[in-house]
Amino acid sequence: MRNLLSLLIFCICFSSFAQQEKLSLAYYIPQDINYNPEIPKPQEVLGYIPGEWHVTHDLLLNYMRELARVSPRITIENRGKTYEGRPLILLTITSEENQKNLEEIRENHLALTYENASSLNTSEMPIVVNQGFSIHGNEPSGSNSALLAAYYLAAAEGEEIEELLKNTVILLDPAFNPDGLQRFAYWANTNKSEHINPDPQDREYNEVWPGGRTNHYWFDMNRDWLPVQLPESQARIETFHKWYPNILTDHHEMGSNSSFFFQPGIPSRTHPLTPNINQELTKEIGNYHAAAFDELGSLYYTEESYDDFYYGKGSTFPDINGGIGILFEQGSSRGHAQETENGILTFPFTIRNQFIAALSTLEAAKNMREKLLNYQRNFYKNARKTAEKGAYVFGSQKDASSAYELAKILKKHKIELYRLEEDVESNGETFNKNTAFAVPKDQRQHRLVRAMFERRTEFQDSLFYDVSAWTLPLAFNLDFLKDIKTGALGEEIKDLQPPTIKATPRSDYAYLLPWEDYYAPKALNMILEKGLRAKVGMQPFSLKDREYDYGTILIPVQNQNLNADEMHKFLQQVAQESNVQIDAINTGLTSGINLGSNQFSALKPAKVALIVGEGITPYDAGEVWHLFDQRYDMKITKLDTRRFSRADLSRYTDIVLPNSRSSALQSNAVKKLKEWVRKGGTLIGYRNAARFFEKQDFMELEIKKDSLVAEDINFEEQRDFRGAQGIGGTIFETKLDLSHPVNFGYTNEKLPVFRNTTLFVAADKQSYNNPIQYTKKPLLSGYVSKPRLEDIAETVPFKHSNMGKGNVILFIDNTNFRAFWFGTNKLLMNAIFFGDEM
Ligand SMILES: [Zn+2]
Repeated sequence: MRNLLSLLIFCICFSSFAQQEKLSLAYYIPQDINYNPEIPKPQEVLGYIPGEWHVTHDLLLNYMRELARVSPRITIENRGKTYEGRPLILLTITSEENQKNLEEIRENHLALTYENASSLNTSEMPIVVNQGFSIHGNEPSGSNSALLAAYYLAAAEGEEIEELLKNTVILLDPAFNPDGLQRFAYWANTNKSEHINPDPQDREYNEVWPGGRTNHYWFDMNRDWLPVQLPESQARIETFHKWYPNILTDHHEMGSNSSFFFQPGIPSRTHPLTPNINQELTKEIGNYHAAAFDELGSLYYTEESYDDFYYGKGSTFPDINGGIGILFEQGSSRGHAQETENGILTFPFTIRNQFIAALSTLEAAKNMREKLLNYQRNFYKNARKTAEKGAYVFGSQKDASSAYELAKILKKHKIELYRLEEDVESNGETFNKNTAFAVPKDQRQHRLVRAMFERRTEFQDSLFYDVSAWTLPLAFNLDFLKDIKTGALGEEIKDLQPPTIKATPRSDYAYLLPWEDYYAPKALNMILEKGLRAKVGMQPFSLKDREYDYGTILIPVQNQNLNADEMHKFLQQVAQESNVQIDAINTGLTSGINLGSNQFSALKPAKVALIVGEGITPYDAGEVWHLFDQRYDMKITKLDTRRFSRADLSRYTDIVLPNSRSSALQSNAVKKLKEWVRKGGTLIGYRNAARFFEKQDFMELEIKKDSLVAEDINFEEQRDFRGAQGIGGTIFETKLDLSHPVNFGYTNEKLPVFRNTTLFVAADKQSYNNPIQYTKKPLLSGYVSKPRLEDIAETVPFKHSNMGKGNVILFIDNTNFRAFWFGTNKLLMNAIFFGDEM
């Protein structure tokens, strides 16, 4: 009976879904106005009505270019390209009249964020709205609705649209993530049946690893608005700071059984640096979405999930820049139609909701125009009022590259940067006037600067949608001064240049490559790849007035495959390409170990493989791939878990196993991996690999048992209770043993480490086996519950053990987090190059 009933329900749903097979543009766009027949409809370029197929990025591009060509309301620009070479386009849509004065409009708008903005007349200024779609490529209703939004804005006729375009500049970014969108469109289209089958178990609704959510290197791009490490974000952030949009919308999808969400999110989780009025305005904008969805008959909700805490997300980033960020989340049909708790959810239905939300955003913008422009002006005025005097200073005596990389981020966000007038000494740290940077607090971007530099350990809420800390000087492991008088500032840096290195003179004896610079591993890899012999110094030494620390690389001149002249030429090239200092040496008689000492260990070229595929966390794997491929120019072989047991492992010196399910590798693969380690391989595991290593006897580990007990917590509260005990992204302090090879290149005894796991591994009885250990009171920045803070104190985030002739190395924390945790990247490089010396 029950089966029959559900079959009946299924048939009813299915018939209404079948009716939609005769899809037309009328399903989406308002029917009470006329459309300019000169403007091509989407189907005239795509060959189908939006929603019949998943749009590929190339077709989307064709359509947008065609609209820009035909419509005087639209201009188009290409702002760069993705890792896969896809153009990052932007459509600027406004009235024909405004298009003629666009630069003047932009300059006036920008002036609202500067001092003396009070004389500007906002009643006559257009509002700027940045509408962005599908930053997660497998949340495709966004980009597919952008086709309709662009068509509507180009073709609609009548007073209403005229008034909107006169008063609004729309920056329409139809695909925040072209590579991911393309990957997902391929999947959904190639698995589509002629007779659409909404069975959720069909292949169409279950993408293969890694899925289309991420970009080329498997990054979640909706976490990169603040660190701006990826080309897609770089284009986006440039547009943002060129225009300072008053509203920025970010169109996503969520689980298939959900309806539609729009912000505000959970009020108690708003970042305290965001003014309260921001959330009030967000709510007011929300009324326009509610009204539009009520009229349409679509269900929605607001304020129950998501939040505005981490400024690296698209819907939160504008909140610290004088605008309003809005997150939309549409229940996903994933493919073309899927059975859900709410009946059959069709792809066109999801597209229509996104399109309607795009229109209600513009309706809100039009009606709240002056209010939002004034809010923006006041945001910057008040920021300046509350700004303290003085400046932050950051730098590194021996790693100018990391300081430079952080400075690059600040420049991308239009933050003023200065040199120091002279060297500054503080707490035993020297800030060199040529390599340190000073950031005045009293500047236009005061709030954003504070959000990047502050350390925060007190929170209103104990739950976070994403990380609770991102303090940048900690992420880059830089020396940092919280305050210096503005009088100590030197010249403003208008044109930021990479650190200068001294030319490498010729030597007939030896060269030395100090290991402290961020890019030193790139240089070493070039040297070893060339077939040159190089050694690593296991102890410090000095020569004249120059001190060389643990891990200095020695490249002797004699008995190499290049002669002295060729070698000089090659090393000059290495120094230049990696921008790292290489010193020429003419004597082996150093203080401390001499250059001929046995304390210099021979190195071999690294042949590295990375385990990827089903069972592995794509983000973590992608971060390693990106680190090798983009930062250190090192080849890395991606070995898929599917064919791991057939792979010839003898080709590799090192294998990296990212965070993964314990079952990611089959038992025959485990056996094979062990044999490879015993023969001399170095296996490097991350995070959950701890459990795999323990279970499969790769190393002995004492993983702390979860001792959490709930008292006075009822059923309703249990989720929040468990959530509050998680560590979703917090920065902790570790103490380093600088003589251990895993720490070569580090000069401070303390290292900030990023943690997003509650795996706690007990320290070894022998202190020399704990080269990296959490301090007694390790919390530096971010949220952690009291019991968890007690759990973590004096545990270790790193383990090494020997197995046969090989090494097993474990990092319990992610040292490569989201491509901006520069400070711990070298730990992995040390494991790769110096694993045998541990
Ligand atoms: Zn999303």
